Amino acid sequence: MIEFENVFKEYSNGILALSNINFKILDGDFVFLVGSSGAGKSTMLKLLMREETVTRGKILIEGTDITKITKRKIPELRRNISVVFQDHRLLDKKTVFENVAYALEILGESKKNIKLSVEEALEIVSLTDKKNCYPSELSGGESQRVSIARAIVNKAPILLCDEPTGNLDQETAWDIMKALIKINERGTTIVMATHAVDIVNKMQRHVITLNKGQIVKDIESGGYYEED
Ligand code: ADP
Repeated sequence: MIEFENVFKEYSNGILALSNINFKILDGDFVFLVGSSGAGKSTMLKLLMREETVTRGKILIEGTDITKITKRKIPELRRNISVVFQDHRLLDKKTVFENVAYALEILGESKKNIKLSVEEALEIVSLTDKKNCYPSELSGGESQRVSIARAIVNKAPILLCDEPTGNLDQETAWDIMKALIKINERGTTIVMATHAVDIVNKMQRHVITLNKGQIVKDIESGGYYEED
């Protein structure tokens, strides 16, 4: 479970990006963080990854307050939380397979395990047939699916997505969502910050709505503009 308890985040320039945030996300949940630009969605994701630190409050992941863990323990946290961004930043000189394998090579996994895990991740995002391609040979949607495969290859229980369908047309965006749904069905908790109204409305999942750094709505299952 992920829990935010009375979380405040003030940046050093004095901007209060989050104010008294409280919510719970259960294991295996699929959650949308919505709200206009500047509402505080990315800040929330950055706090979860410990890319930023809270000004006040607690963030519990499986009962551990991650605002209190030492710098030395941050790599361990990141093994449990993977991230997908809007801009996918693949390595141009590596193939699809090599891009996905890279994270596991750094962790020192055996070649055999790497091959198995990478093939499984590519299968989930339906890119098995592109494994020997280079990023320059892929469409925007395919590149984004490679970055999703790269994020899930270490089998972290939590996947954070910051506008993963941001630059894509509707149909391609749904290919991304299909991959995320499959990942969620395998038990991964997904927290997705998005502006994509139609996706949120069609999915009818947990929606947390932010406005100017505050939660204005938290519904267990619903759409973007659902009334209480
Ligand atoms: P969203 O993801 O919903 O667009 P953000 O979390 O990026 O919102 O931003 C929330 C607020 O915090 C905005 O007012 C933004 O300008 C501010 N902000 C974000 N990052 C920083 C930073 N590194 N330094 C100072 N202010 C920031």
